[in-house]
Amino acid sequence: MYSEWAKDEIHIDRLEVFAHHGVYPEETRDGQIFYVNAVLHTDTSRAGKSDELEHTVNYGEVSRFITKWMQDNTCKLLEAVAGRLAEALLLQYRRLSAVTLEIVKPFAPVKLPFGEISVSVCRGWHRAYVALGSNMGDREGYLSGALEAMKHHPLMEVRKVSRLLVTRPYGGVEQEDFLNGVAEVETLMNPEQLLNALQTMEQAAGRERLVHWGPRTLDLDILFYDKIVVELEHLVIPHPDLENRRFVLEPLAEIAPYFRHPVTGKTAMSLLKELKS
Ligand code: ADP
Ligand code: MG
Repeated sequence: MYSEWAKDEIHIDRLEVFAHHGVYPEETRDGQIFYVNAVLHTDTSRAGKSDELEHTVNYGEVSRFITKWMQDNTCKLLEAVAGRLAEALLLQYRRLSAVTLEIVKPFAPVKLPFGEISVSVCRGWHRAYVALGSNMGDREGYLSGALEAMKHHPLMEVRKVSRLLVTRPYGGVEQEDFLNGVAEVETLMNPEQLLNALQTMEQAAGRERLVHWGPRTLDLDILFYDKIVVELEHLVIPHPDLENRRFVLEPLAEIAPYFRHPVTGKTAMSLLKELKS
């Protein structure tokens, strides 16, 4: 789960596993030794007080999970081993907020003198706010369908959902009223993967991009993703127009009144107040 402040770490060093990952056929046939270095990020304060194993992540269990996963799966690349195993750990052990995994291949088939080859990845839960909107057909059905799709997405957890709000359309195009809401989600996806997932949900709702700001069955926008700023051509976070949209700020202020815009430093509540006045 997402954590705002946990900086605690549990380390598993040089777990040795015999497995069959590799690009070459002899690697997948014969197998070889791998070492796994894992840093488990989890808040240990509760276990620190209670001294109870059930209040923390059991490193023995995690070590067995890693060993079994490494043996049951076959990947060509260390990148795939590290990325997929990190994701599997975060889904299996919900107390983890993040995990750093280094997969070491001491006998990698490189015909040169070297110490070790390794790939290290860091993966974890992130918190995002997603705006939902619809103004065509069964608007409520499209929004609840989108929430269901988010709840069922393996890499997403829906934490909070605002009430739905009816608003007049925006942008000067003649069309039906909008139904809007905001959801707080936790996700293992990066911002681009999250955008792709949301766009797949929009397409599943039969959305066609005909008129900019025109009628749509389903619109899903990323408002915030942690406190990060993204300035890509196809993805801008925080959402650039959010200060001007009452239909976004009102539901956002309902579920996250004290969330601060990472650039302006203003809370959702004060952004809404400013827009109203
Ligand atoms: P709007 O949401 O502004 O009414 P669209 O839903 O048609 O318009 O989005 C147009 C494009 O906006 C998308 O193709 C997407 O690549 C881009 N985009 C940029 N930033 C974001 C964001 N934060 N969330 C969602 N889409 C975004
Ligand atoms: Mg959109």
